[in-house]
Formats: sequence, C-alpha cells, structure tokens
Amino acid sequence: MTDAHAAAPDEAAHRAEAVLTDPTLQREVDSVLRRTPTGYRAASARGSVEFTRTDDDTIVVIDDRGDHPLADQRTDQRASVGHEIDDPWSLLGDHPTPHAMASVAQYFDSPHAPDLVVLHAPTHRFHGNVGEHGSLATTQARAPFIAAGPGVLARGIVDEHLRTVDIAPTLAALLGCDPIDGVDGLGRPRAGVRLLVQDGDECTAVLDPDARPEHVVLFLWDGCNPQALHEAAASGDAPHTAALIERGTSFRHGAYASLPTATLANHTAATTGVLPGRSGILHNTWYDRSADHVVDLLDYRQMITARDHLRTDIETIHEALHRNEPDAVSVATYEYGDRGANWSSYMQMTTGGPHGVLSDDDRRRHRTPEFMEVPAYRHYSTFDARSVADARHCWSGALGALPRFSWFTLNLTDSIGHYGGPHSEIGRAAIRETDARMGEIIDEIDRRGVLDRTAIVMCADHGMQTTAEGDAFDLSVPLRDAGVDHRMVDAQYVYLR
Ligand SMILES: [Zn+2]
Repeated sequence: MTDAHAAAPDEAAHRAEAVLTDPTLQREVDSVLRRTPTGYRAASARGSVEFTRTDDDTIVVIDDRGDHPLADQRTDQRASVGHEIDDPWSLLGDHPTPHAMASVAQYFDSPHAPDLVVLHAPTHRFHGNVGEHGSLATTQARAPFIAAGPGVLARGIVDEHLRTVDIAPTLAALLGCDPIDGVDGLGRPRAGVRLLVQDGDECTAVLDPDARPEHVVLFLWDGCNPQALHEAAASGDAPHTAALIERGTSFRHGAYASLPTATLANHTAATTGVLPGRSGILHNTWYDRSADHVVDLLDYRQMITARDHLRTDIETIHEALHRNEPDAVSVATYEYGDRGANWSSYMQMTTGGPHGVLSDDDRRRHRTPEFMEVPAYRHYSTFDARSVADARHCWSGALGALPRFSWFTLNLTDSIGHYGGPHSEIGRAAIRETDARMGEIIDEIDRRGVLDRTAIVMCADHGMQTTAEGDAFDLSVPLRDAGVDHRMVDAQYVYLR
C-alpha cells in the first residue's frame, strides 16, 4: 500500500463493514460489498471473499474465509415456485448468486458507486414491501426471457439463461444491425458488436440466422418472477405468454440482472447493452459526489427525463437501429430507455405532447375488481392501460409507417410483486392481467396483418423475492454509534464522508 490518500478511506470502509456484518445484525444485513485497494470484497457475518478482475475480465479470488456470500455462483438453481416457497429466507452463499463477482466488479466502475453496498437479508422488510429485489440472490436477479417469431429459433423451454445486458445486442441482431468494430463500456475495442458501445453479447442460442423479421416488438414486464410466469403459462392463466413459448423459446433460467438488480439500472442495461456501472445510470437513486446531489429517478419529473443521465457516447437500441436504418420508425411506451425513439410516452410527457386515446372501458378491461381498493394495484393497472393505449396509437398508422421496432413496458407485475410478493393471489392476478394487455397489443399487430412477420421478445428487468414480515431497521444508527461519518442513500448505499 503506497497510496497514502487511499489508506484512510479503506480503513473507514473496513470499520463500517465490521459494524454492518456484526452477527447481531444478521437478520437485517445479508452481506456488504465494497472496493478494496486490491480489488473487491464481499463480507457477511459468516465469511468473506476478496477478488480482482484482470484486464481480460477474468475474476481471480485472492482470499476467502468461512461460508462467504458469493461461494455459489451457479446459474441453474431454484428453478421452481415450490423451491422459492419452501426455502424463502436462505442467505447468500446458500442462496446462489449467478455472475456475482463480475457483477460486483462492474458496479464499482461507476464514479457514483457508494463506498459500501448493503445487501439486505430476506428476513428484513426494509422498504415495507413484501416482495423485494436489488441483491445478488438468484430470485431477485432472475427475470424471464421468452422470444418467438421469424428470426427466433423454436426450442420450447430450455435450461439456459442470458443476462439483461445481452438483450439489446440480441434485439440489434434480430433487427439486422450490421456487426461493427466498437468498444465495451470501459472503452476497450470489441470486434463484431452490434452497438457502438457494448458490454453484452447477442444471444445466438435463440437467433435463427436464416430468417429476418420485418418488425421486432419487445414487452418488458417489470419485476416479473419467471417461475411464477412459467407456472401461470402452464396453468392457463397466461395464454399469450404460453403461445409465445409454444412457438418460440423460453429460457428457464431467464435473464440475470446486473448489480444493482433494480429497475433503472437494468432497464438501461437491457436498452443499451451497457452494464449499470458504466452506462451513466447506476441505480434508481444515487449520490452524485461532484454535484453534491442525490439523483432519484423514481421521482416523476426525474423519471421521465432519465435519458438525460445516459452517457452520450453509448447507443440505445433505437439509436443503433437508426444508425443502420435512418428512416425506420421505433417507439417506446412507459420506458425510461427511450433516447432516440421516434415516439415515446415519457418524451410525450416531457414535452406535453399527445398520447394514445384511453377510454373508460380501456381502463376497466382486464382488471380484477376485488383488488381495486389496493392503491398499488389501481394506479399501476391504469398506467399499464395507458401503455397499451400508447402502443395502439403507435401501431395505428398515425406515425406514417408501422414501427420497425417497438419497446412496450408494463409495470403492474413490479408494483404488485412488491405489494404482495411474487407468489401471492394478487401477484397471480397481476400476471393474468399483464398477459391480457400483452395479448391486446399482439392482437393490434395481427389486425395490421404483419404478425407472422413480427418477432416478439418478452423479458423483465429483475426478479422478485418474498421477504419476512418485520419492522424496518435503520442501519445508519449502528454506523453513527460507531462513529462512522456517512451519508445513507435508499437504506443500503453508504457514502463515507
Ligand atoms: Zn423494475
């Protein structure tokens, strides 16, 4: 250690980690992540691991002790609803953490990364939500991934996975964007990529190189648990999803979100192919040290202009399409990653422009009346009805040509996953309803006569895990008691002062 400047923060981070991983906090804190002078470290009350990332992205473990939290990085575990219900509270290490070490390393590439990240234990209901995500646990990271139509192989349900950061390159390949010499999110040259800046990989396991779709449509069901979705498809509750699986491919192990397994971070990864630590959008909320300002992209005004935080040199899927096909029409409804789209709900909100027409019947259709008293249900059901109305507008011919690329986001599965947990009655209702809304948009495409020339991809941005009932505990208190001067953001991101 020759850098005296770095020594002091590391000592403070070490002290903060010791406070947070004390066995008395094990119900609240699963693990703590941080950078060290030599690499990265994950620690819990039960063990720790230190590792580095080499220039060619190989992860090298330097030291591990006890039952450390990243010991099991298998990608094919906990693949049924039954498994998730039978073993809800296991801590990281026992609960696998797919791609965890690479995910931790990319997170700390961001200049806005906190000094320490707290991964809450599933026995701690820290935001008052029954369902939660954000950690490296399989169940919180895993989103569904299903694709069907021309350009997509029909393989049924297969025991495979990809990552959310692979979605944009896969869409770009489906759209026929030419391979180019680009760079990755750290500026290192990458040959044969589809976007100018690309960390993810196109998923050749679903791509049929002999067919090319005229239209590509993506549905993102925010926070949808893939096991619950597969169960609903099998039981008849999600017939439109079942039809996509029937004529396409579904990855049983879905698409793994990168740290943080949260909305803005992984919508951005999915729409750009760039990892959260490198895209400019690290999280839903972070502290910008240079501006001395907390960014909160869940705040309505900041949310609809989230695109302003994107690095200017990276491409969204809309921008990559337009570089290849300047006249192509691309659209996005209720999606943050909309930069470059010809029409976008959030851009319309930003500029006060018109939206698709929403009738009272549109609002009511598909709803489950018994849940109308639940605000999270009522509000997000309405938002999704608006997303469908905007999608219908985009496919009405009003934009001149039918969209070559469409990105439709539906949010009810996330709000209800938080409210009731992914395997609750209301959670099943949210899947039924979202499937019906997706079907309504697919029917609209069919009415235009181009469904057989349209590839459809369905995914989410992260998973959803049930947490234990109990009071939220403010982790700032033990840190302050121990004399650790810090700023806590979103109950889990510790910025040392
Ligand atoms: Zn989300």
